[in-house]
Amino acid sequence: MVQVVIVGAGPTGAVTALLLVRQGIKVKLIEASRDFKRQFRGEGLMPSGLDALEQMGLLELLADIPHQTIDAWEFLLSQKQLFRVEEPLETNGRHCTTVSQPHFLAAIIKQAETYSQFEFIQGEPVQDVLSSSDRICGVKLGSGTEIIADLVIAADGRNSVVRKKAGIDLTKLRNNIDILWFKLDSGAFSAAENTFYSIIQGQDAFGLFRGSSGQFHLGWGLHGDDNYDWKQVDWAEKLIATSPPWLAKHIKEHQTSLTKPILLSVLVGRCDRWSIPGLLLLGDAVHPLSPIRAQGINMAFRDAIVAANHLVPLFSNSEANLTQIDAALSLIQQEREPEIIRIQELQAQEMAQAELLHNHAFVRWGAKTFSTIIRPGIRASWLKRQRQMRQGVTEVLFKF
Ligand SMILES: Cc1cc2nc3c(=O)[nH]c(=O)nc-3n(C[C@H](O)[C@H](O)[C@H](O)COP(=O)(O)OP(=O)(O)OC[C@H]3O[C@@H](n4cnc5c(N)ncnc54)[C@H](O)[C@@H]3O)c2cc1C
Repeated sequence: MVQVVIVGAGPTGAVTALLLVRQGIKVKLIEASRDFKRQFRGEGLMPSGLDALEQMGLLELLADIPHQTIDAWEFLLSQKQLFRVEEPLETNGRHCTTVSQPHFLAAIIKQAETYSQFEFIQGEPVQDVLSSSDRICGVKLGSGTEIIADLVIAADGRNSVVRKKAGIDLTKLRNNIDILWFKLDSGAFSAAENTFYSIIQGQDAFGLFRGSSGQFHLGWGLHGDDNYDWKQVDWAEKLIATSPPWLAKHIKEHQTSLTKPILLSVLVGRCDRWSIPGLLLLGDAVHPLSPIRAQGINMAFRDAIVAANHLVPLFSNSEANLTQIDAALSLIQQEREPEIIRIQELQAQEMAQAELLHNHAFVRWGAKTFSTIIRPGIRASWLKRQRQMRQGVTEVLFKF
């Protein structure tokens, strides 16, 4: 029986593993962390991600996993509403939803563990790849253990060790921000509608929404030209100064619950090659995405579906040989790459809008002063960009 090794049990690796074991394929899934409680994991699922979950028969899992729907998107510039859009954006569509990733991953692994052909190796980082006759044939763990495989799938995220050890280059794309992440009790707002606010005040900007736990999540944009050292900042004070009055009051009342900031370095890029013989890269390992409009997990699910569509028929065919497996890997890239390129373009366009406001006081003044006149135009152009980021660019249909 064919042996697949998947490195990394984030959304890409865990879901790919489940799709393969469900079809009788032997999978060893290797995860470096001892548990899923990483400091930070993205939570936002767009309708395309929810649709992917439904296609894979996993949507029902959400009933037992902490999650919150987003009810609206609102942009505030210098305390004035620029525009607001209610969810769902599409007629009869789905709401964008925040889902606890640790709970989700644990539920996926639990399902996979019901199959005898699944093995989960947790708390063991992969250190290197093994090769034989110009083909990747397994991985080496930090402990020195070697694991042989017919196919290795690298799903070990943006700083992929497997990618580096296999000598596959990542072309970095322009990205001008890092994110500081905070949580804050939502208090009386815990039962209110869940609006995703983008709050811009002078050169400062942050996003605010209620995450899956019901707490507020705050993502503050750090720019290269910021004239302060974020480690020295009194963040409660700075957030209060940047917030509209209702939020400033809330932060003052709940400031003891404000967590220390976590710095999330953003890396955006793409590999020209998603595979070499014996190795396939998926998810952030091959196309690290920016956090803008919560695309990464959605793209991870869609990568997993397309990979399973191509690999399952081959692995189920006892006649299939390694050359046929390697040929299928480039078909996965061909099918997925156009969507990833487009999504990265759209994220860059959103970023360019934010930079325009960050860099030019005159633009901020104009947008605020003439907000009533420009509102329909900027709302329409924002909505146009969201369509593909919410629904996906290409058709992804799960075959099993
Ligand atoms: C600030 C920020 C906010 C974001 N918010 C969202 C959001 O709301 N919604 C969204 O869709 N996307 C979001 N993203 C993007 C999203 O987090 C990623 O695109 C997504 O997690 C990619 O999934 P993945 O499984 O490919 O990689 P990861 O989630 O990074 O998972 C990789 C896994 O591999 C493991 N690993 C790493 N190295 C090794 C090794 N050597 N051996 C074994 N295991 C290893 C890691 O421990 C990890 O569990 C955000 C990104 C950032 C930076």
